[in-house]
Amino acid sequence: MTNQTAPSLSSQTGEEFLAEGRAAITAARADVATFKALPADTSSSDVAEALDQIGRTLNEVSGRIHLYSQVHPDAKVRESAEELERELSAFGTELSLDREIFDRIAAVDLDAITDEQEKRLFVTSLRDYRRSGVDQDEATRARITALKSELTEIGQEFDRNIITGGSEFVIEDGLEGLAGLPEDYKAAHQPGEDGAVRISTDAQDRMPFMTFAERDDLRKAYHKLCNNRACPDNLGVLQTLLEKRHELATLLGYANWADYVTEDKMAKSGANARSFIERVLELSDKRSLAENDELLAEKRQDDPNATVLYEHERAFLAERVRRRKYDFDSQSVRPYFAYPKVRDGILATASKLYGVDFVRNDDVERWHEDVEVFDVVEDGQVSARMFLDMHPRAGKFKHAAMFNKKTGRRDGPIPEGTLVCNFPQPKDGDPGLLLHDQVTTYFHEVGHLLHYLFSGKQKYQQFGGIATEWDFVEVPSQLFEEWAWDPTILATFATHHETGEPIPAELVERMRRAEEYGKGLQARGQMFYALLALTYYESDPTGLDTTERLIELKNKIMLSPHVEDTHMQASFGHLHGYSAMYYTYMWSLVISKDFFSRFNGDLMNSETAREYRAKVTGRGGERDAADLCRDFLGRDYDFTAFEAWLNA
Ligand SMILES: [Zn+2]
Repeated sequence: MTNQTAPSLSSQTGEEFLAEGRAAITAARADVATFKALPADTSSSDVAEALDQIGRTLNEVSGRIHLYSQVHPDAKVRESAEELERELSAFGTELSLDREIFDRIAAVDLDAITDEQEKRLFVTSLRDYRRSGVDQDEATRARITALKSELTEIGQEFDRNIITGGSEFVIEDGLEGLAGLPEDYKAAHQPGEDGAVRISTDAQDRMPFMTFAERDDLRKAYHKLCNNRACPDNLGVLQTLLEKRHELATLLGYANWADYVTEDKMAKSGANARSFIERVLELSDKRSLAENDELLAEKRQDDPNATVLYEHERAFLAERVRRRKYDFDSQSVRPYFAYPKVRDGILATASKLYGVDFVRNDDVERWHEDVEVFDVVEDGQVSARMFLDMHPRAGKFKHAAMFNKKTGRRDGPIPEGTLVCNFPQPKDGDPGLLLHDQVTTYFHEVGHLLHYLFSGKQKYQQFGGIATEWDFVEVPSQLFEEWAWDPTILATFATHHETGEPIPAELVERMRRAEEYGKGLQARGQMFYALLALTYYESDPTGLDTTERLIELKNKIMLSPHVEDTHMQASFGHLHGYSAMYYTYMWSLVISKDFFSRFNGDLMNSETAREYRAKVTGRGGERDAADLCRDFLGRDYDFTAFEAWLNA
């Protein structure tokens, strides 16, 4: 699709952006001064407005700062954005330890407030200030500040070691060692002058090799190498990370880091997270054992006396079962998923469900010519704006994610959100064909985007956008993925790029069954990781042997023996970013399955969709997520739908 008019590209330089960002921080400092100068008899609603104003001022640039640091084509603007990120983060830490702001909020008489949102603003602010340690004595606050800055560096070191701590796997036998791998993989890994093939331990090389390589001995050796990435360096770094976080949590009055980090999430405590994980393990037990038997039977076709499955065999055997049993090749659906059709189809689906129109707007300024802008129009009014930056280019973020651009507010700006993805681009006769996996990702990210755009009408800035609990965040996105698997929905837009024929329902059904094979084992594996992360963080780590703890858990949960001298924890990146909360994706999945059951198989039921918007996504952070669930479901969420899906 070509633009009708030339897109208006931003001409802002890095220096201009830096100046704009700094001006916003200066303006926010003035807001802080105004807040502190409020007379003692100021009404609580005026105090709330003045408090929220600090965030409103920053909102004018904060979204773009993070976005531009990841996507802007001008390296100078990216550098300015990174500098501003650091300045913004320092300002945030300073605010969170500002005793004067805290005292002013604490002086408000909460019992006298009748407005629910106003009260919530104070209650959550007080909680966040306490969690940051603002009410501790001076010596403790100094230690907290020091610990936080140490933790930033330790976390960066942990991440950096994972990025740089991989190694090269040398296959002396050359291309013969790549037997079973797709042609494009072989083409990308031609032998060197010595005849050997070299592959990295990075995900893009690792996943295909473990899935397709026919040589068992090579998979075995490679698996061991992969499970020692960032090793031994990160074993020590992890130990320090656990110890410093434990110290911080106990200084703040918590028994351990797991309790601290889950307190303001739906889980509320480490113990609740643990029971959740144990529950999912129990529910997935039967199916995962049956799937495991199936894998073992597959192995016995080559080795009739086999009794044990090893880690390096699992992906390979699962792929063989999938092909033999379900006769599905993921390349076979690509001709139905040309990029423009997928985009238009997803927007049309959302449009029908929610009764909104997506109107292309070529007049809005954007940062790159590939970026497309759509206005969300309701009742003749533009209520939100979306930016789609969907194709790869040099210097751009490599994954798929929703980025804020500007958070909306009832009497303030309209919300502006951005999807940043890396899907094939239609160009010079190439239709830009997506894998179904990418189509699912597209639905997932639009689920996040709609959540963000619909929640931009709150009274206070603080509750706008995705200001909800971390373990609830993946509900709207995982819910919308369901639409990517429905044959009727897919047939409305997925037509063959050459013949124009809609995707056959039978093909979608086969694809679904192939995809669902292994979901029991997958749930079991995910819960192993979740329990490992939680275990590391739920007690005093002094003297903890992270490898020993890992082996203990693996023997209890996983159905393959631990491989001696491997240390996967050293490259388990979530141990930094998510810390104890690896369970959150599954937590959200349980809720999204429950929400999906309300559609009763009628995916185009716009009445249910609009109720979902009114009661869940449209509410942003103005209520606890558990209350939003109760409101939409008419009861507390439960495991029934999840269990039915798992055992279907
Ligand atoms: Zn997501």
